[in-house]
Order: sequence, then structure tokens, then C-alpha cells
Amino acid sequence: MASSLEKTSTFIDGEVSYWYRDIGLPALRPALPGATSVDVAIVGGGLTGLWTAYYLKAAAPDLRIAILEKEFAGFGASGRNGGWLSAEPPGEPSRYAKTHGIGSVVRLQKAMFAAVDEVIRILELEGIDAQVRKDGLLHVATTPSQRARLAKRMPHLRMYGWSERDLQWLDAAELAERVKIAGAVGATYSPHCARIQPASLVRGLAAVVERMGVAIYEGTEVTEVQPSRVVTRQGRVRADFVIRALEGFTAGLKGFKRTWLPMNSSMIVTEPLPARAWDEIGWEGAELVGDEAHGFAYCQRTRDGRIALGGRAVPYRYGSRWDERGQTMSGTFDQLRAQLARLFPSAKAVGIEHAWAGVLGVPRDWCASVGLDRDSGIGWAGGYVGHGVTSTNLAGRTLADLVLERDTDLVTLPWVGRRVRQWEMEPVRWLAVRGLYLAYAAADRRERASGSATSSLIATVADRVSGRR
Ligand SMILES: Cc1cc2nc3c(=O)[nH]c(=O)nc-3n(C[C@H](O)[C@H](O)[C@H](O)COP(=O)(O)OP(=O)(O)OC[C@H]3O[C@@H](n4cnc5c(N)ncnc54)[C@H](O)[C@@H]3O)c2cc1C
Repeated sequence: MASSLEKTSTFIDGEVSYWYRDIGLPALRPALPGATSVDVAIVGGGLTGLWTAYYLKAAAPDLRIAILEKEFAGFGASGRNGGWLSAEPPGEPSRYAKTHGIGSVVRLQKAMFAAVDEVIRILELEGIDAQVRKDGLLHVATTPSQRARLAKRMPHLRMYGWSERDLQWLDAAELAERVKIAGAVGATYSPHCARIQPASLVRGLAAVVERMGVAIYEGTEVTEVQPSRVVTRQGRVRADFVIRALEGFTAGLKGFKRTWLPMNSSMIVTEPLPARAWDEIGWEGAELVGDEAHGFAYCQRTRDGRIALGGRAVPYRYGSRWDERGQTMSGTFDQLRAQLARLFPSAKAVGIEHAWAGVLGVPRDWCASVGLDRDSGIGWAGGYVGHGVTSTNLAGRTLADLVLERDTDLVTLPWVGRRVRQWEMEPVRWLAVRGLYLAYAAADRRERASGSATSSLIATVADRVSGRR
């Protein structure tokens, strides 16, 4: 066993994610054999594409549906994420309220609460073992300023549908009964979150969708999306409806370079912790844990007793590029290791077994959208800003309703049909994101050092300038 959070002798950087090391990388399904025609062509085999196919096929078994996937289903963020099946909405609620009113945001929030249970229901129904366990979500403050931010957010969330039952305040002692985080001074707890093994979920869902009769073509890169047509290297696919489900990879599609910024998120996972470390940490449940730093870290205790921790680390690559099969950028490992050591000093004696990166989609207003343009037949969903695991399910159901022209509550949720301006050209894009996260790092350092309950002005200004809040 390695010590002091060093890389173990079996350490791997990339190879998609630790979650695939756990279950094994899949063999590829056959590529598109040539030009063809279907009713619905879905571009991207992540959770957005798969959930859309699932609900479409369940409602209309005769529909001919094809999923076109560049690598393999679950290769993207859906197979690399932190495993938070969480009801937190993608984006700042007040943004949706501005265009659709508070009542519609409350509806979105209730739909998110229900979507966590819907995913769990489908996993049980379809026999998918994704290591799901619904023990809730903890947001932990480790400085007075983080505590003040968390406390301030509670009445804000109450307004948008979070009742006393949905969101509770924990003082440091109450938090320690669940999990001991170094320096914790308070936390919020919500029961609406489950731990999942991301690769098991997405691969399990792909197998189910395929059994339902959906064609999944892997190793099939889409180069262009046009009305009623998808262009691939293997041939064209004609379709009444074309669904764009590429999230963080959207920038790779012709004409979409500045639609959603591909934001990096990276993770590390430890070796299994020895029993004495778990005795010190507690954490007997499967609560998901996030800190309240501006540079946010998210964690899960895995089923086999490891800690998986993620954060932004190096947030963006110039020119909207992304990683090579999950390989992290220089500096990422050290940043994540420092966050882990800060939150869980009892884990310091173990080694790190794996690190990986992925991309998620960030729209210019940091809010997600789902839509279908009836004239062109082109639909889309994404821009979940790091809250995609549950949102993809809600988005998939919504897209199915839009395609089938069903007049449901989902198709009037405030994220439906949302159009947002594009990101700036480079180098402004790169400078803005780099500046934002440098400001966050400086703000976190300052808040830790000062012990003040007031949030650092640098972070507030950075949020405003970047359009994040
Ligand atoms: C490290 C990390 C941690 C995260 N943690 C969480 C979390 O804990 N909870 C949460 O809610 N959200 C989290 N997210 C975000 C969440 O995982 C995503 O928002 C969600 O999985 C997006 O699903 P998707 O299907 O839209 O996109 P993806 O899963 O990225 O799928 C897109 C697919 O399109 C394919 N593709 C790319 N280009 C092409 C092309 N040209 N042609 C055909 N196919 C193509 C890709 O290979 C990929 O399979 C995290 C993201 C990352 C990267």
C-alpha cells in the first residue's frame, strides 16, 4: 500500500475512468453499416441519448430509433461522473424564474425530486445493478464564509420548492454523526440524492435500450446535424427527428463551436481505506458529500470502501478541446489530492489508484435547456453544468413527449425551448474561464486564511463577470 496520497504502483491516469476499471471496458458494438433511414436519429450515446430512446421506445414500440455514438455508449461524462444522482437543478433557479416565474421553477424542482426516484425505479424494473443507494446529500462548510453562504442559500431554495423535509441544516456535531470532515462548521442535508456507479448505470441502460429494439451504432462519428439528416463518416442517416445529445462534446459538431463550453471536471479515487480510517471518518452511509468552497469538491464513498473525489482542477482547454480518453492535465492530480487531504486527513495514509477527466456542457447563462424545433425536426438537451445525472432522465422524458407531441407538464417546464447566446470567441473564452477559476482559488485561500464570515469580493465579481450568477 502506498502512503500519503501518493500514486500507487498500479496508478492509471485516464483510460476513460476508474468506473470502467471497476466493470471492464466494453467491446465496441458494430458501426453504422452505411446510409439508412429511421424515424429518430439520436447523436450521442450518453444518458441524454439513452433516456430519450428508452422513453420513446417504451411509448411507441414501432418507432425506428438509431443512436450514433463516436466511441462507445457511456464513453463521455455519463461514464465518468461523480455518481451524484441528485435533485439539484442544473443552473441558478432565479435565472429560470426571470423568464417563467417562480411557480414554474418550483415545478422544475418537484420534477427533479421525482426524477431521482424515477431513475431508481427504472434501475429496479430493468434489473440494472448500478450500486444505487439513496442516503442523501451533504453540502459542508469548512470556513465561516462557506457557512454563511450555505445558510443564506436555504431561504433562497425554500422559495423554489425545497421544504423543511427537503433541506435541513446540520450543525457541526450533527454532521459528525454522519461523516467527519476536517474543520467542518456546518452543513445542509437533503434526502434527495443517491450514490450510483456511473459506468454500471449507463452501460446497463444501453443494454436495456438495445433489447427494446433501438439500434446503437458505436465507433460512428457524426460530423454534421442537418434538418432530417445526420452526416457520419460511414454514410448519411435520414430521420424525421434528429436529437443532439452531445453535452460537453457539442463543440465538435459543425456550427456548434460556441454553443456550450466543454468544461473539464476531473476525479481521483483512493485505494480501499483501512477499517481504522473509516472508524475515524464515520461515513457509514452512502451520502454524497460536497464542500462549499468556490472551487467545489464532490465526493462519494464507493461500495468497496474507497473515496472518489472530483473538482474542476484545470477547468478548460484553449479552443474548446477536450481530453484524450480521460487523461488529466498537468497539475490536476496535485490539486485534487490537496482537496482530499484537506477534507479527509484520515485518508492521508492511503494511495491514489486512478485519476481521470471528462467534459460537461456549460451554456453562456449557466442554465440547461431541452428543446425541439418542429420546422427542422432537430431536438437537443444538455448544458447541465455538472448536474446531468438526474437531469438527463428528465430531459429524455421531455424530449420523448416533444417528439410524440404529447401535451404534458414536462413540455412547459422553464428549461424547455430556452435559447441562450453563444460564448465569446477565443482568446476571450479561455481568458474568462481561466480568470474565473483563478479568482475562485484566490478567494478560497483568502477565506480560509481570514476566517471572515464574508465571502471574498473576488469570487463575487468573478461570478458576475462570467455570467455564472
Ligand atoms: C468528471 C465529471 C463528474 C461529474 N459528476 C456529476 C455528478 O456527480 N452528478 C451529476 O449530476 N452530474 C455530473 N457530471 C455531469 C454529467 O455526468 C453529465 O452532465 C451527463 O452525464 C451528460 O450526459 P450526456 O449524455 O448529455 O453527455 P455524455 O455522457 O458526455 O455523452 C455524449 C456522448 O456523445 C459521444 N460523442 C461525442 N462526439 C460525438 C460525435 N461527433 N458523434 C457521435 N457521438 C459523439 C461521446 O462519446 C459521448 O458518449 C459530471 C461530469 C464529469 C465530466
